[in-house]
Amino acid sequence: TRVWKNAPANLRQVAQLARTHGKRAFAIYEDERVSYEGWFRAVARLAAELRSRGVEKGDRVALAMRNLPEWPVAFFAATTIGAICVPLNAWWTGPELAFGLANSGSKLLVCDAERWERIVPHRGDLPELETVFVSRGEAVGGERLEDIIGTPSDYDALPAAELPEVEIAPDDEATIFYTSGTTGQPKGALGTHRNLCTNIVSSAYNGAFAALRRGEEPPAPVQKVGLTVIPLFHVTACSAGLMGYAVAGHTMIFMHKWDPVKAFQLIESEKVNLTGGVPTIAWQLLEHPERANYDLSSLEAVAYGGAPAAPELVRKIHEEFGALPANGWGMTETMATVTGNSGEDYLNRPDSCGPPVAVADLKIVGDDGSELAPGEVGELWARGPMVVKGYWNRPEATAETFVDGWVRTGDLARLDEEGWCYIVDRAKDMIIRGGENIYSSEVENVLYDHPAVTDAALVGISHPTLGEEPAAVVHLAPGMTATEEELRDWVAARLAKFKVPVRITFIEDTLPRNANGKILKKDLGAFFA
Ligand code: ATP
Ligand code: MG
Repeated sequence: TRVWKNAPANLRQVAQLARTHGKRAFAIYEDERVSYEGWFRAVARLAAELRSRGVEKGDRVALAMRNLPEWPVAFFAATTIGAICVPLNAWWTGPELAFGLANSGSKLLVCDAERWERIVPHRGDLPELETVFVSRGEAVGGERLEDIIGTPSDYDALPAAELPEVEIAPDDEATIFYTSGTTGQPKGALGTHRNLCTNIVSSAYNGAFAALRRGEEPPAPVQKVGLTVIPLFHVTACSAGLMGYAVAGHTMIFMHKWDPVKAFQLIESEKVNLTGGVPTIAWQLLEHPERANYDLSSLEAVAYGGAPAAPELVRKIHEEFGALPANGWGMTETMATVTGNSGEDYLNRPDSCGPPVAVADLKIVGDDGSELAPGEVGELWARGPMVVKGYWNRPEATAETFVDGWVRTGDLARLDEEGWCYIVDRAKDMIIRGGENIYSSEVENVLYDHPAVTDAALVGISHPTLGEEPAAVVHLAPGMTATEEELRDWVAARLAKFKVPVRITFIEDTLPRNANGKILKKDLGAFFA
């Protein structure tokens, strides 16, 4: 057990704090184990190399790879010398990766061979990209990352070194994370050291505030083992996962790709305490037929965010895993967490994403721009030191979204009398049927409550006079059955008639989602064409 002495003000301090965890395992990937000290040595080595290649403060360094131990090495090497790290979505195609590189004007790229193969055909369109370090494979036209820092198994044997001297102020820029592109083209959110450090501190204290609310002693920080299953290029995994873990001295286990059975094996063999990421992951763990064959008793908490979570999930995690569920609301523009709901609080209010974390402020704004009263649904606005400066190279989108220190979230929500937040829908997903608003998550949650349903999405289909009508796409649990009629009756017994889906389509697979676990609603209309 270790209590950290100073809260970090920039990522250099985060790295230096993390280094004090010494021989403790920092990251585990297949048979590779990297200690905190080994990771720090690799960071210092790569940081020095970046400096010698002319990377200056404010230069963009792109990072495109799976969740590999090299990812946190490159991330900290860039940010601790004041460069702006640009984590690119590893599932992007060649043209999408080239868009990220060009849009950010990256000068140097660290990637794995799989990504490099996709980028190579576009190299000619990227005049600003001077240097490329490729790990785990052919580096045609680039250089091998292993020639500079060795492979992760060698990190411990690197000579001890300090970070190159660079002065960093809290408001210096640190990262460009791209939004998920759920509602349009991904936008690069420009985050500062302060934004990221705010998240580390507010997440660390969230548990303490929850305990104080219940009149209990805040729990002492304890080092845990976490299974990191969501991609690090998403700000949640990087900030709540990687950053929070590094400061606390937790161990991160990476998976080559998401696979529930492999996850069960790892939870059992490595005695994993924390996992989650997005609600889908939690569902897949719960519903998997092989779950009973593994000892998952080490699991203490299953935390997620990024997409709506059905109240049913909260109860199931508690009852079936004996673990505490946790939900956080946030967006790329807020460098992750703005609200948090966990443990007993969450069981009591399973439809809430919680109160705002320390130093965050929320308000609900109506169509006419006025602030709404508790209980009323409108657009959620958020402010606090975690909100980014704006979007990289997108002045118009920046002016629309960042207003008077607030970020307009595009989410519809209400706050209760005590300030707890309830997300009801994305404004763009809300269905308006002949003037009546239908919030998709309300109907989806009722569908989730049906014993046979494990995945559900509500979408609008056009109607000549009503404008839109609700329709649902549903996936049933293996071996379970339900008819369209039965599900319509189920919803009708619980919600007003205008909210009942006029059509329900069953699909074999789970619903199409992007890498961050968000249902691609844009693609679902096709089921009703
Ligand atoms: P884009 O902005 O490019 O369309 P995106 O909004 O999906 O993509 P992110 O920044 O990854 O990109 O996601 C933020 C959004 O995710 C929020 O605006 C909200 O709609 C959703 N979200 C995040 N956390 C939660 C949560 N706990 N419950 C419900 N929805 C959530
Ligand atoms: Mg968004």
